[in-house]
Amino acid sequence: MDEIEVLGELGKGNYGSVQKVFHRPTGVTMAMKEIRLELDESKLNGIIMELDILHRAASPEIVEFYGAFTIESCVYYCMEFMDAGSLDKLTGQTSSDALAEGELLVPEPVLRRITAGIVRGLRFLKDELQIMHRDVKPTNVLMNRKGEVKLCDFGVSGQLEKSLAKTNIGCQSYMAPERIKGESQNQVSTYTVASDVWSVGLSIIELAKGCYPYPPETFANVFAQLTAIVNGAPPTLPEGYSDDANDFIAKCLQKDPNARPTYGELLKHPFLLADKDADVDMAGWVEHALERQAKRSIVPLAEVAS
Ligand code: ATP
Ligand code: MG
Repeated sequence: MDEIEVLGELGKGNYGSVQKVFHRPTGVTMAMKEIRLELDESKLNGIIMELDILHRAASPEIVEFYGAFTIESCVYYCMEFMDAGSLDKLTGQTSSDALAEGELLVPEPVLRRITAGIVRGLRFLKDELQIMHRDVKPTNVLMNRKGEVKLCDFGVSGQLEKSLAKTNIGCQSYMAPERIKGESQNQVSTYTVASDVWSVGLSIIELAKGCYPYPPETFANVFAQLTAIVNGAPPTLPEGYSDDANDFIAKCLQKDPNARPTYGELLKHPFLLADKDADVDMAGWVEHALERQAKRSIVPLAEVAS
């Protein structure tokens, strides 16, 4: 910790916070995640050992891992700093008057490239590391100003997963219907990699719309919202996208997990095939999205509270 200078907070999650830090010995700016756990030393060391697989997780679509350590009952996890932040913050809360007539929040070629990055990242995790992500959602898909897309927070450590006890489904669930059903019946492992495919579909819709596809304010309570995810018609992209894009999303959001395509099939879908050799100004779009974000006056929670 004495090698680290904290530069500011990047965000807070359910289990801790993420700081932007400067690592003096290497001169690298990093993101450092602090996870508070009430665990004994041997369990904490087990987590650090399990996290070590991350050194093998070298892929253009995975956030680079620099190392982890524990202090008292906290795990600190250092990773590549992504200077455009997570997808939720890039398009979230954009009002329609921030857009020109007929302009899409995320033009299709950009949406396509982001989707392709996510799917390739997930395929890498599955094929090379034999793990499923388990927590695909917009806050866990990061971008940088170069326009690169990378995944973070995947389920690499069984012990860490167990300790976080993600039993709290919450009011913004990206869990597939079969997972929600399983959790409600206390069957923790009734889901497979196809559940991550559902979460991809939902995350892409959120990115394109700028808001969570099952808006809490349209439901009487969380139970009604979860019932809609399990039994209701799946959400769709906003207007303005091609049939291929709509078909891709519909295939990801099928209720029957066995009917959802594999990553290999998704990469061969016409929606993603069109990404090959396409000339897309990703850096330009990120810049534009960050400018729009700066104009949004999101009042920090701390100020709301006071
Ligand atoms: P949850 O606690 O449910 O996983 P979360 O993903 O939002 O939710 P964290 O993983 O703690 O919570 O991350 C908090 C925020 O920090 C994220 O929403 C993201 O915007 C930001 N963040 C995380 N990692 C990085 C990173 N490597 N570079 C830049 N920003 C990051
Ligand atoms: Mg996260």
